[in-house]
Amino acid sequence: MPERIERLAAKVAEAGLDWLIVSAPLNVLWLTGFTGSNGVALCPADPGRNPALLLTDFRYIEQVAAQAPAAWQVEIATNDLLGAGLAEHFPVPDVGGESNYGTVGYDDKHLTVAQLAALETAFDGRARFEPLSGSTEALRLIKSAAEVEKIRAAAQLADAAMLELLEGGLIGRSEVEVALILESAMRRLGAQELSFPPIVASGAHGALPHAEPREVEIEQGQMVTIDWGAKLDGYCSDCTRTYFTGEVDDRQTRIYEVVLEAQLAAAAAVMPGPTGREVDLVARTIIEDAGFAENFGHGLGHGVGLDVHEAPRLSRHGDAAIEAGMIVTVEPGIYLTGECGVRIEDLLLVTADGSQALNGLPKERQLVS
Ligand code: ZN
Ligand code: ZN
Repeated sequence: MPERIERLAAKVAEAGLDWLIVSAPLNVLWLTGFTGSNGVALCPADPGRNPALLLTDFRYIEQVAAQAPAAWQVEIATNDLLGAGLAEHFPVPDVGGESNYGTVGYDDKHLTVAQLAALETAFDGRARFEPLSGSTEALRLIKSAAEVEKIRAAAQLADAAMLELLEGGLIGRSEVEVALILESAMRRLGAQELSFPPIVASGAHGALPHAEPREVEIEQGQMVTIDWGAKLDGYCSDCTRTYFTGEVDDRQTRIYEVVLEAQLAAAAAVMPGPTGREVDLVARTIIEDAGFAENFGHGLGHGVGLDVHEAPRLSRHGDAAIEAGMIVTVEPGIYLTGECGVRIEDLLLVTADGSQALNGLPKERQLVS
């Protein structure tokens, strides 16, 4: 964890700031290990000269002591952390005297206008505030070996929950019931919570990429798309499979084959070097060439870590190159309004020369009773 302070400090210094306020809960968690609901970290540009401060409130006195490494100077505030709390506990800085705290960065993607105003008021001219977004997220892009193992464990747990569900079958259960079975299996197998509420979409409902499960029974002869993930030890998994509850028409069989081909080709293209856009294009070209250009309206995939949707983006907007140590989803889909939908999603660890799937359920067309 102290190594994470050093790496963020280098970014703070590079941006010409003296400090950076880290306030987004998952960034605080990544940086400090503290899981409480109310925490603000203050990272100095020069940790050799100024302390790294972790601020929380009375409720978390014991928890923060147990979770945050000794490198953090922990303070318990009685006022709002992003306001008077931070001003009262600001470490006496070595950046030009007590009345000058220097330039303090804040993440303008996570700090509200009201919070910035409260900071300005509380500091009363003793600090200059400047926006700097994305610096902690940039460090979270590349997973440590320990993080990879946590995500792998979450993905394996989610696989096991799906196998339990499939054993009991899908036909005759409502989508809501299927989501509930999956959810309770994940919790029973040790998930701390879900990465997100499961998506269960049968028949024509499958045409909605983010369908909400309905009180509608799954019938024989449908395609059923299920997108689910478990959270374990703070880290998320994310996977989608489309199952068959019997024979479907040729067009539905065909779109499954096209999505599978696109998924396999794009997964094979995941490696250090290409941008997210280039990998997205591999799947998109296959789907477009098959005549379904209008039916794949979302990006190919996204990073997964503490958050189920994080950088990098594998989409038309994915400018950044893929690097070893990233964990990304590859999830092409085809959605035919009023008819059906197919999505197949794997969670991939980018390795030195390719990728490795962290989940392991088969992707070939699978019949489920
Ligand atoms: Zn998903
Ligand atoms: Zn996903």
